[in-house]
Amino acid sequence: MGIYIQILALVIISIILLWFGYTLFLGPLSPFYRGFFLWSKWEKREQQKGEPGDPQVCPVCSIKLYKGELVKSVAFPSISGGIDRLMYIKGCFSCLNDNVQRRCPVCNSNLSTDDFLVSRMFERMGRKNHVHVLGCNRCKRINLPSSSV
Ligand SMILES: [Zn+2]
Ligand SMILES: [Zn+2]
Repeated sequence: MGIYIQILALVIISIILLWFGYTLFLGPLSPFYRGFFLWSKWEKREQQKGEPGDPQVCPVCSIKLYKGELVKSVAFPSISGGIDRLMYIKGCFSCLNDNVQRRCPVCNSNLSTDDFLVSRMFERMGRKNHVHVLGCNRCKRINLPSSSV
């Protein structure tokens, strides 16, 4: 009788070991699975450079933005009551999170992730807003609203 129980125990142990092996090599927790996932993600995201000032190009790092990607910015209500509004541009997802060189297009100084560009936004009816970069917080210190960004 004892031999049957031993065989049964061996069968159960081998099933558990097989299941372990399966999750270890092919399951989502497996290092192989994770490596493949990261590799495919890295290959997909290839960064293209554009000219600063072009539409769909981040003015801080001049990386072309993907569809749906936005530049982080703060717009203030118009002081003069006109169509232009003051806007601070912080940057895009790439240059705020990745180690991408951030530059001011006016004075060419290197910007940290805390720095921002000062720009004028012209709201145009029925057309895309026009953004004119005046400089960064280093070269355009004068007459800025004191509100925090
Ligand atoms: Zn950027
Ligand atoms: Zn500047």
